[in-house]
Amino acid sequence: LNSVVIVGGGQAGFQTAASLRQGGFAGRIIIVGDEPGVPYQRPPLSKAYLLGKIGAHAIRFRQPEYFEEHRIERLHDSVTRIDRAARHVELASGTVIPYDHLVLATGARNRVPELPGIELDGVIGLRTLADADTLSPRISSIRSAVVIGAGFIGLEFAAVAAAKGVAVHVIELGERPMARAISKPMSDLFTAGHASWGVQIDFRQKLRRILGIEGKVSGVELEDGRVIAAGLVVYGIGVLPNAELAAAAGLTVNNGICVDELLLTSDPDISAIGDAANFTSCYADKPVRLESVQNAVDQGKAVAARLMGKPSPYTALPWFWTDQGALRLQIAGLADGHDETVQVGAADGHQLAVLCFRQGRLIAVETANRTADHMAARKLLARNTPLTPAQAREPGFELKAYEA
Ligand code: FAD
Repeated sequence: LNSVVIVGGGQAGFQTAASLRQGGFAGRIIIVGDEPGVPYQRPPLSKAYLLGKIGAHAIRFRQPEYFEEHRIERLHDSVTRIDRAARHVELASGTVIPYDHLVLATGARNRVPELPGIELDGVIGLRTLADADTLSPRISSIRSAVVIGAGFIGLEFAAVAAAKGVAVHVIELGERPMARAISKPMSDLFTAGHASWGVQIDFRQKLRRILGIEGKVSGVELEDGRVIAAGLVVYGIGVLPNAELAAAAGLTVNNGICVDELLLTSDPDISAIGDAANFTSCYADKPVRLESVQNAVDQGKAVAARLMGKPSPYTALPWFWTDQGALRLQIAGLADGHDETVQVGAADGHQLAVLCFRQGRLIAVETANRTADHMAARKLLARNTPLTPAQAREPGFELKAYEA
């Protein structure tokens, strides 16, 4: 293998390149990324970076010298076509780059709500550094904001804006926050947490339109006619995988680019990883597409290892975190499809652990401000240690007792 071309310089693309070099890969590595600048981490965009606690330098994976020293070529361009027969990619600039192996790490983009007024100035989604840089100065200049969607990113933004003195109103269609990913008891803890730092979440509410004055957002109108004033509207209603490039090349695509247990697409010369990839996980009962740092990093490492002659099925345990105000939620495993929960420890508004079971089997552990329990849960789940709901309900139960 002489050259690996990576499409996308995000978390997964960067990790693949770094792991290849770290593992001793001597060939050419080219990252083609359509965002300007040095590859960076997204999680701080809705946390420390947005709060102004850290600057743009601090969120880079590495400084520019690293890429030169490690001979990782970076091209600021967009891949517009894959020619599988010729084994090359075509870029928007007209450049053609041949590959021996191609890694699609194209990530995902925000779903944009279909609402009248979506084009108004001050209506923004948060995905990129450019988005965060647009949002940041505005937070300081407004009194009230509306967030569309009570998902992870919308709620992280809400907590940051509230901390900066903005009155935040979250409008959510469903009945509880982060409902797709977490259990009801944990949702309830976060609803209370947001209320305590002044974020109001309205559930079962639908927007009719976004209102504006002279091209600038001024508020939103709900289906019931209620109007909420806002100097900023931030939407976080989920993402769409960037899979069009793969689909156009004839690769199998279904809610992301479909890959096998080695993270190979339907073409053995092309891998797909990260937010863009749909794969079969031993921790889920149906194919999944995960949007997390863990998934991007571990899949990048797995592909690098395979390209260096050490293939093994991808079986990493999914885990995730989100910081919202005073609460850090950590999730080990995937809670989707759980049919029973057991709450452990103090549900005192600041700390909680929820064990999620499916048919009596532990599938996920959610913890709020209990990092030691999260670490124990990761070990327990990765080792598939048997633990029943009845055992978890016993007085004095400690996750740590089961981690070994
Ligand atoms: P990305 O990081 O999105 O990178 C893909 C890159 O490919 C992008 O730069 C894109 O522009 C580029 N690209 C796409 N198509 C092309 C093309 N044709 N040509 C060239 N380039 C292309 N995860 C957590 O676990 N915890 C968190 O707390 C957390 N917080 C987050 C906060 C925010 C605001 C966001 C947006 C995400 C957060 N995530 C978090 C999710 C995590 O950042 C993503 O799962 C991760 O970045 C996915 O990595 P990726 O490389 O697959 O995709």
